[in-house]
Amino acid sequence: KGEKLRLPKWLKTEIPIGKNYSELKKTLRKLNLHTVCEEAKCPNIGECWGGGEHATATATIMVLGDLCTRGCRFCSVKTARNPPPPDPMEPVNTGKAIAEWGLDYVVLTSVDRDDLPDGGAAHFAQTVREIKSRNGSILVECLTPDFRGDLEAVSTVAMSGLDVYAHNVETVKEMQWLVRDPRANYAQSLAVLRHVKEKHPTLITKTSIMLGLGETDDQILQTMQDLRKIDVDCLTLGQYMQPTKRHLKVKEYVHPDKFQYWQEMGDKMGFKYTASGPLVRSSYKAGEFFLKNLAE
Ligand code: SF4
Ligand code: SF4
Repeated sequence: KGEKLRLPKWLKTEIPIGKNYSELKKTLRKLNLHTVCEEAKCPNIGECWGGGEHATATATIMVLGDLCTRGCRFCSVKTARNPPPPDPMEPVNTGKAIAEWGLDYVVLTSVDRDDLPDGGAAHFAQTVREIKSRNGSILVECLTPDFRGDLEAVSTVAMSGLDVYAHNVETVKEMQWLVRDPRANYAQSLAVLRHVKEKHPTLITKTSIMLGLGETDDQILQTMQDLRKIDVDCLTLGQYMQPTKRHLKVKEYVHPDKFQYWQEMGDKMGFKYTASGPLVRSSYKAGEFFLKNLAE
């Protein structure tokens, strides 16, 4: 039985408020949009929503409801076997709201909807089209579930007109059984990312790993190699934080220098960008990184 680790100083942060932040918040209330940024009290909100001089505002929106059919041991989203059906008006309402909001980059994500025949893929795709048809200059990333390995569902999203296809492997191969719901696994997640690149080569692919769950350096390196082998373009690495007492304990608070090391390793290995740091989340400043590293 390990004692609870003390929170190191680099994780004791205050939320810095950027220039656009209050403006965006006001618009949000009017539009009735729910962001993961606010609901998860993400410490990056100031930076993502408009910090810096030439800020590229990024936000993450959750579609398909807030009840997940799975239960991963790191995630605080509520679980239900049979969540209510998706709101058929959500794609058009979200599209309108986002087009009006004045964002540069939006991440659409969802819970896992194993109860739906297509896992919600068509709903994702429709939402992308509703955004793009109103404002083609907004960059759209979809951070999707694994759709139980249903590659047709993956293609439905991949062909929707989005810019970045993201799916998170979450952790190294050896820790999957402990960390993720038993219906998720490493091979299935790699298959999603591989399929996107093989069938839709113009799309940017992206994934994310949490550190501090007890994984070894060799396992992290192996994961990065596995991801490069299937041509994943972008990688983010961040510290796992235990959301409640009932969730998996943090094994280690990885030092910022170590995150820097993985960042450099990622650059060397040829990822188009690697974002690595204690507070980095999969959507962290995604817009800014995109424009710096991927826009042609
Ligand atoms: Fe959370 Fe996603 Fe796992 Fe559902 S599938 S419990 S939303 S991480
Ligand atoms: Fe929102 Fe993601 Fe940025 Fe956090 S890291 S503020 S959830 S876009």
